[in-house]
Amino acid sequence: MHNSDIPVILLFGGHDPSGGAGLAADVATCWALGCHAVSVLTAVTVQNTRGVQDYQLVEPKLVVAQARALIEDIPVRACKTGMLGSAVIVDALAPVLDALAPIPLVVDPVLAADQGASLASPDLAAALKSKLIPRATVVTPNLPEARSLTGAQLPAQAAQHLLDTGCQGVLVTGTHDQGTGDIVHRWYRKHAVAESHWPRQPGEYHGSGCTLASAIAAYLGHGLADDEAVERGLRFAWQAVVRGFQPGAGQYIPDRFWQLAPDLRSK
Ligand code: PLP
Repeated sequence: MHNSDIPVILLFGGHDPSGGAGLAADVATCWALGCHAVSVLTAVTVQNTRGVQDYQLVEPKLVVAQARALIEDIPVRACKTGMLGSAVIVDALAPVLDALAPIPLVVDPVLAADQGASLASPDLAAALKSKLIPRATVVTPNLPEARSLTGAQLPAQAAQHLLDTGCQGVLVTGTHDQGTGDIVHRWYRKHAVAESHWPRQPGEYHGSGCTLASAIAAYLGHGLADDEAVERGLRFAWQAVVRGFQPGAGQYIPDRFWQLAPDLRSK
């Protein structure tokens, strides 16, 4: 018998051995938000908090086999994709995700790491735009990703391009927009836009985008409407970043478990 009190979130992404981003970040976020996470590995990366050194994609057949084994056994309430790496993986996964409709899907179109290293082959953006984004409940590009996906420079124009593919909503995150004092995230629906402003934190963070997209998937898995899932997801990611810590010599990573063991943690 299935315990339907705990929503299961199906995650697709790469492994970041530093635990800052990728599947480790996604799983931690879902668990912190009262969900269970099941995960499909798409790539092994070689990286630490200083940056990405290398990566290798998992065979598309093996990616699909992981997903099918989970889906035939475990009912999932929401899905989230992160690093998919190449068009062949998107092509292989698209029918699997289509078959799960209308389960909510969050697409984080990961094209590059925060320090700029590419995490995708040049054909990925077009494949995401034609095969996965049209079916998405929420797409979470940062501004550079929104520009690469659409060729449009302004957030509103890029979001409109993506909405035109058929997706339900686009959250263009402003963390990479260094021209602004506050970070401005913009949430676009068909005829509406909501801006949310957050004070910029000093330092560089790794995994804030993964945390945000997974938090939105977790809230959708709990049955919240997309507007509320996005609003709460932004708040959760912000709180994790504010309590971020520096496990190595490089970037900070968000603390997704700040509510746990407060007596054992200094912050
Ligand atoms: N997924 C993997 C496996 C990564 O290595 C990275 C960045 O290095 C990302 C996703 C994106 O991370 P962020 O949340 O910082 O955008």
